[in-house]
Amino acid sequence: MSLIVQKYGGSSVADAESIKRVAKRIVQTRKAGNEVVVVVSAMGDTTDELLDLAGQVTPLPEPRELDMLLTAGERISMALLAMTIKGMGVDARSFTGSQAGMITDARHGAARIVDVTPVRLREALDAGAIAIVAGFQGFSRETMDITTLGRGGSDTTAVALAAALGAEVCEIYTDVDGVFTADPRVVTKATKIERITSEEMLELAAAGSKVLYIRAVEYARRHGVTIHVRSSFSNSPGTYVYNPKDGETVEEPIIAGVAADLNEAKITIVDVPDIPGKAAEIFTLVATTGANIDMIVQNVSAAATGRTDISFTLPKAEGLRVMQALETQKDRIGFSTLQFDDQIGKLALVGAGMRTNAGVSAKLFTALYEAGINIEMISTSEIRISVVTRADTINDAVRVVHTAFGLDGEQDAVVYAGTGR
Ligand code: ADP
Ligand code: ASP
Ligand code: MG
Repeated sequence: MSLIVQKYGGSSVADAESIKRVAKRIVQTRKAGNEVVVVVSAMGDTTDELLDLAGQVTPLPEPRELDMLLTAGERISMALLAMTIKGMGVDARSFTGSQAGMITDARHGAARIVDVTPVRLREALDAGAIAIVAGFQGFSRETMDITTLGRGGSDTTAVALAAALGAEVCEIYTDVDGVFTADPRVVTKATKIERITSEEMLELAAAGSKVLYIRAVEYARRHGVTIHVRSSFSNSPGTYVYNPKDGETVEEPIIAGVAADLNEAKITIVDVPDIPGKAAEIFTLVATTGANIDMIVQNVSAAATGRTDISFTLPKAEGLRVMQALETQKDRIGFSTLQFDDQIGKLALVGAGMRTNAGVSAKLFTALYEAGINIEMISTSEIRISVVTRADTINDAVRVVHTAFGLDGEQDAVVYAGTGR
C-alpha cells in the first residue's frame, strides 16, 4: 500500500462546494488502496482577512496572538473536510499541527521545523482512517506555544509530513495545472512545465513564483521528497519537481521560467565615504536587524568627493526596521541621506541551461530595451539573472521576456479559481 500526502491550498477549499469536491478526490485516492494524509490551508482568502481584522484592532499585533488567530483558519477547513468525508461513510480524523507532531522553534510568524513526530497520524492510518492536518502551524516545546511557519507554509507542512512518513509522493493541489513558465495570471500563453529540477524550482520560488513556497522546495530537496504540483479542479497531470540522482544527466532547457516579485523595496545610502570597511560596517548593522538582503549595488565613487552610493533590496516589510537602524548610525557611518523606494519590481529569469549558454543576459536586456523598460539593478547567479525595474512595468517586462525566450505556448493557460491575492 502506498502512502500519499495531498495538500489543498486555500482556493481549492474556498467554500462548502469546493470542500465536497476535494473530499471526493480524497476518498477516491483512499478507495484506490492508498493510505492518505491530507494537509489543508485556510478557506479562500481567510488568512488575509484575519490579518486585516487584526490590523483593525491594533497597529502592531502581538506575534503570539497573531499566530493563535491565523491558525484558526486552518482549523476550520480541517474540521469541515473531516466531517464531509465522514458524511460520505469513510473514516477521517482531523489534527492540528501540534497534534500532528509538527515541532518548531519559537519564532512566531516564521517558525522553523525542528522535529516531526506524526505518531497520531500513523495511528489513524493504521486504523484505516484518512488523516487530515491543519497546514502552516506547529508547536514550540520551548515556549509551549502555537506557532506558524510563515505565509504559504502549508506547502512545507505537507513536504515535512511526506518526508517523516516516507510518502511515495507529495501532491500539492492548487488552482492552476502545475508550475508554468510564468504566472498564468500575468502571461496567458504561459506553458506548463512537465518536470523541473528542485534546483530550478528553488530559484523560481525564491524569485516570487508563489505556486510553491521556497521552504517547502528546500525541505523536499534535502529529504528527497518528490513533489507533484497539480490542479484540484482537473485531472490533468501537473508538474513533477524532482531531485536528479547523482550522475543522472538531465536534458536541461536553457530557460525554465520567468518570475516576478513586487514585495521588495530598495534602500539607497547616499554619500558613503569610499574607504575600506564602510560596506562591512553597513551590512554588519543591517544583519543585526535580521533583514533578508538580496541585491547590492555600489556605484563608482565621484572622484571629486571620494564618496559613493550603496543600494540594496530587501522585503518591503523589513524596510522600516532597517531604515531606523541605519538612521541611528548616520554619523558613525558618515553618509548624508537615506532613500526608501517601495515602487520597484524584480524580474528573474531562471534556467539550469544558462550555465553553458552565453548570450542570455544580452537577449534579456535587449527585450527590455525594445519594450522601453529601464533596468535599475542587475544581479546574476549560475542559473538566474535578476533585474529591478519600476513596479508598474513589471508585468509588461515578464511578458516581453517570456516571448523573447520563446516560452509562449500555443494555448492559453487555465486559471481555475482564486483571487491571486
Ligand atoms: P494555493 O492557495 O493553492 O496555495 P497559491 O495562490 O499560493 O495557491 O499559488 C497558486 C498561484 O501561484 C497561481 O494561481 C498563480 O497565479 C501563481 N503563480 C505564480 N507563478 C506561477 C508559476 N510559475 N506557475 C504557476 N503558478 C504560478
Ligand atoms: N493559510 C496560510 C497562508 O495563506 C498558509 C498557506 O495557505 O499555505 O499563508
Ligand atoms: Mg500557496
